[in-house]
Amino acid sequence: MRKKIVAGNWKMNLLTDDANQLISLLKDNKNEDVELIVFPSYIFLPSVIKSKGDKLMVGAQNFYPKDKGAFTGEISVSQLSDIGVTHVLIGHSERRAYFGEDESFLKQKVDVALDNTLTPVFCCGEPLEIRDRGEEFSYVKQQLIDSLFHLSIQNIEKCIIAYEPVWAIGTGKTATIEQAEEMHKEIRNWLTEVYGNETAQSISILYGGSCNAANAKELFACENVDGGLIGGAALDSDAFLTISNSF
Ligand code: PEP
Repeated sequence: MRKKIVAGNWKMNLLTDDANQLISLLKDNKNEDVELIVFPSYIFLPSVIKSKGDKLMVGAQNFYPKDKGAFTGEISVSQLSDIGVTHVLIGHSERRAYFGEDESFLKQKVDVALDNTLTPVFCCGEPLEIRDRGEEFSYVKQQLIDSLFHLSIQNIEKCIIAYEPVWAIGTGKTATIEQAEEMHKEIRNWLTEVYGNETAQSISILYGGSCNAANAKELFACENVDGGLIGGAALDSDAFLTISNSF
């Protein structure tokens, strides 16, 4: 049975007071049917974990896939799990585009996260020029083959997948419900081909890309959309809670 999940990627936003205030407004969320995860900047992780209550989960936006050592400026998954982080974003299009994270590096990140019992939220999605050429399905399938489909059944079942068309992220241009559902359905079909129906039906596939309080309901009503990965709208507690109540 796949979970309903709404995750907020705060990206490189907020100062200490804003982060504390946002958590204080989110932490008493009463909706037991939906798992809420926030991904704050590293510097806020300890205080968010301390004040989040027992309903919210906390993830990290990034990590370096080595256990420890001379990697100045980096943070390991063991350091993250040591402070109570439970989820990590992997493959976000901003990390692929601005920080050169390629498929084999992302595969390594997936493996290291799972070895340390962190849940990967694996992001995939096509840029506009790929969609314009009608190649979005083969592009996204290849991203999954390259970085995720090497996993065993036991491990893939621990992952969350987020479909985030690059042209929809931070642009205000949301995928239509048809575009979202047809890609989510394809992702579930590929999961079925590789891992079988039971596993495919157990994995949550989130939609990300200008999802907001006004459009979440129709997106989440799609059969294969199990929730959202939210950027801009996750910085506003009312919007984020409205989204989380949109199932
Ligand atoms: C994101 O960065 O994952 C995202 C979906 O951003 P936005 O909601 O702002 O498009």
